Amino acid sequence: MEDVVVIGAGIVGLATARALLRARPGLSVTVLDKADDVATAQTGHNSGVIHAGIYYAPGSLKARLCRAGEAATKAFCDEHGISYAVPGKLVVATEEPEVVRLRALGERAAQNGIELESVDGARLRALEPNVRGLEALLSPATGIVDFREVARAMAAELVASGVRVVTRAAVRSIAEDGTGVHLESDTGELRARALVACAGLQADRVARMGGLDVRFRIVPFRGEYYQLPAAKNDLVTRLIYPVPDPELPFLGVHLSPTIDGRVTVGPNAVLGLSREGYPRGAVRLRDVASYSLFPGMWRFGRGNLRTGLSEARDSVFRSGYLRQVQKYAPSLTVEDLLPYPAGIRAQAITRTGRPVEDFLLRHTARQVHVCNAPSPAATSAIPIGERVGRSVLGVLDR
Ligand SMILES: Cc1cc2nc3c(=O)[nH]c(=O)nc-3n(C[C@H](O)[C@H](O)[C@H](O)COP(=O)(O)OP(=O)(O)OC[C@H]3O[C@@H](n4cnc5c(N)ncnc54)[C@H](O)[C@@H]3O)c2cc1C
Repeated sequence: MEDVVVIGAGIVGLATARALLRARPGLSVTVLDKADDVATAQTGHNSGVIHAGIYYAPGSLKARLCRAGEAATKAFCDEHGISYAVPGKLVVATEEPEVVRLRALGERAAQNGIELESVDGARLRALEPNVRGLEALLSPATGIVDFREVARAMAAELVASGVRVVTRAAVRSIAEDGTGVHLESDTGELRARALVACAGLQADRVARMGGLDVRFRIVPFRGEYYQLPAAKNDLVTRLIYPVPDPELPFLGVHLSPTIDGRVTVGPNAVLGLSREGYPRGAVRLRDVASYSLFPGMWRFGRGNLRTGLSEARDSVFRSGYLRQVQKYAPSLTVEDLLPYPAGIRAQAITRTGRPVEDFLLRHTARQVHVCNAPSPAATSAIPIGERVGRSVLGVLDR
């Protein structure tokens, strides 16, 4: 019998296994993932931003764990020789109503203890000559990294300390009893004293499999990107973000220098037709039915119909997408938007139609499920793992 089985070899599952091993080096831990490698889902398809923690409600898990995660991610990279950079980020207001929201964002960041500088239009032009705006906030600590590389380094560290990281091992059933958890997966059956599930886009299904009363639904939101032509990679030196729409859990289409020297544009947020189908047009009826039949999605849809339709239109017509970026980077043209792979976000939506804003963890006597871990969960993975790890040790010590 294993001590702990972790479902999901994304960055959160791997960080949890790592936290367990660091807290108790002798534990026997197995990580199972249904894909043929680690970090193939959200962890391998994101913006690569080490967030500083500006946006999140003071006191929330996101606010606390993002701030801790920013430092922990950089320290992990230093320890493992992984390239990262800290170019800093500007959140740019381009019209008066956004200025009001930008200032409110600055106050929220201050409550979270995040270092930010206010930047007026003239200084903005001096810092970033190709960016226009009335006012901005500068976050000097925001960094960039390839989270896939971070996850691979975590997996290598785990394997070196005796953890089994098993791929092509989709978990099909979970049965809990008084002494442990019995699992059936593609690679056979397993018994463990405790189970952790970090299943990202499948979090609701895996939680249901574990017998939890699941009142939310994971809804896939595609994040489509473009990249700039190589000749324009010096357009900006920092990450450039718009002021986010307070009604939506997404940050808006931004310009991000990447650690491999490109500049990406995006991501947008379009309702996905498949949880794990990355090519444009991928459809999986089971995934569409899962949210179409969920009352919370209808309520969410009614409240966000206009935004949803305009995101869908801008997904089809590059000119609309471009307009979102031209607000702060007016020199860009449609020809500058070159193809780049999309990502798919796992966002939990409640029955009342609200996106679950914070990270969401759920427990049974022997299981801990990470049910909602959208952005900034890649940045926050190390402290999320430590928190989940503490709960699991509590289960083992009972
Ligand atoms: C477009 C986009 C941009 C983002 N940008 C950022 C950013 O810049 N900074 C940031 O901090 N965060 C960002 N995020 C969020 C971040 O990528 C995720 O929060 C994070 O990767 C979540 O990690 P995870 O391990 O929970 O999930 P995942 O990486 O999705 O891993 C879940 C794993 O579970 C496995 N799994 C699922 N079901 C089963 C099963 N039944 N059996 C076995 N295995 C199973 C899957 O194969 C998968 O490997 C972004 C996300 C997206 C999509």
